[in-house]
Amino acid sequence: MSTNSIIAELKKHIADFEQQVAVAEIGKVEEIGDGIARLSGLTKCQANEMIEFLSEMKTPSNDGASQVTYGVALNLEEETVGVVILGEFKHIKEGDTAKRTGRILSVPVGEELIGRVVNPLGSPIDGGRAFTTKKFYPIERIAPGVMTREPVSEPVQTGIKAIDAMIPIGRGQRELIIGDRQTGKTSLAIDTIINQKDQNMICVYVAIGQKESKVARLVAKLKEAGAMDYTVVVSAGASDSAALLFIAPYAGVSIAEYFMDQGKDVLVIYDDLSKQAWAYREVSLLLRRPPGREAYPGDVFYLHSRLLERACRRNKEAGGGSITALPIIETQAGDVTAYIPTNVISITDGQIFLEADLFYRGIRPAVNVGISVSRVGSNAQIKPMKKVAGKIKLQLAQFRELEAFAQFSSDLDPETKKQIDLGQRLVEVLKQPQYQPMPVANQVAIIYAITNGLANNVDVKNIRDWEDKLQAYLNQSQSGLLTKIASGIWDESVAKDLQDAIEQFKKSI
Ligand code: ATP
Ligand code: MG
Repeated sequence: MSTNSIIAELKKHIADFEQQVAVAEIGKVEEIGDGIARLSGLTKCQANEMIEFLSEMKTPSNDGASQVTYGVALNLEEETVGVVILGEFKHIKEGDTAKRTGRILSVPVGEELIGRVVNPLGSPIDGGRAFTTKKFYPIERIAPGVMTREPVSEPVQTGIKAIDAMIPIGRGQRELIIGDRQTGKTSLAIDTIINQKDQNMICVYVAIGQKESKVARLVAKLKEAGAMDYTVVVSAGASDSAALLFIAPYAGVSIAEYFMDQGKDVLVIYDDLSKQAWAYREVSLLLRRPPGREAYPGDVFYLHSRLLERACRRNKEAGGGSITALPIIETQAGDVTAYIPTNVISITDGQIFLEADLFYRGIRPAVNVGISVSRVGSNAQIKPMKKVAGKIKLQLAQFRELEAFAQFSSDLDPETKKQIDLGQRLVEVLKQPQYQPMPVANQVAIIYAITNGLANNVDVKNIRDWEDKLQAYLNQSQSGLLTKIASGIWDESVAKDLQDAIEQFKKSI
């Protein structure tokens, strides 16, 4: 054996030796409180590494049997490591021992998760069987690089007229849903999930800080609509620790990334990121990170940007697949200029702004069309919708300006009256009940009818009723035409067929 090979052999042993030590590294709890532990002796600990506490937890629920408690190392300091405990922590005391696991915080991923409700660590919380998947993804991953991406080109059909017509979303886009409490934010997201049936989309709904009972009701709704067949729900409930709330969206996007890696399209909803930011603020303050603006830690922008950056459309060479992200943000009294809202607005490709005022006036979904935008989605809109709905955003804006005059309608010149009539009818048909997403072809038909004056003889208050009848007629007698429109075909002959069909319907009532 040559000297060199002996040296190489020795070096290898030394390297391996170090690794073994690293895995078995044991630390001591120096300080504990509020779910945060400061550990000494874990000099090789990595950021986001899982730490196992060796203290036994005895709870009535597990009949006195011991249960492992994990934490995640978030602060790596010179002498100590700041660890956030994931779950129950009352049994951990100063002087207890904890060991490194060598594992970066990760979640189980795979087809098995579809139809299930899991916590941010990927453990089932729906009472179903445990997962057998051997595949794990770390919850923090680097977003795909720009060279592997391509622009959005395919639509996400939300089934909501106001959105698909005026604020269209493309696969791979990040579109913010923003509004005050109780303005229908969650409902928009849930209806969008329900509408993904047979659309080759997998959905991940991440519930952050919501009441467990609310999440259970929501899952029941999704089941009833058959949407759990393609949906994973990740939930960190209101009673869970701040640490779990903070990691929940990352766990959700990792679960989504697995499917994107299989070349599939995935829709992820984060409901909501305001609560995640609060949880992150809490964790950071407990870790004694210095607060910055509005007491949020300095890196709160990075918290959301590195999450939303992971949504993208991948190109063919990178295997295709996409993640569309719909983050939700709650505003206080409609203030979009607060710190967290402005951050997320600047990260996303547009926002759907829901307004309490509209909501109370019965305009639901309460989308404020004037300040809602989608910066990339119109490339993904199907041709019939683009042709038919191209002008309605502008028409609605004009209508809003003229609306105040509507009460004096007898004195109006014919042109103004025409605009008001159209606006009022558009507002009516853009109202839509919950849990009733509408196929895109039907949306095209009703918008065509209104914008071409085919419903001018119908009283505004009867418009919705008229629409219901029209849709029923189209579904029953014009399925061929609807299929044609849905497949993106639009020319003069299709437009004429639609016109004839609507005239036909008008004769029949
Ligand atoms: P929170 O701030 O509590 O999360 P939110 O903004 O997510 O609220 P939702 O929970 O979606 O709002 O909706 C609030 C209420 O409005 C619910 O009772 C819901 O049923 C109702 N609602 C939502 N959308 C519609 C709609 N299109 N038509 C009628 N009612 C609706
Ligand atoms: Mg909600």
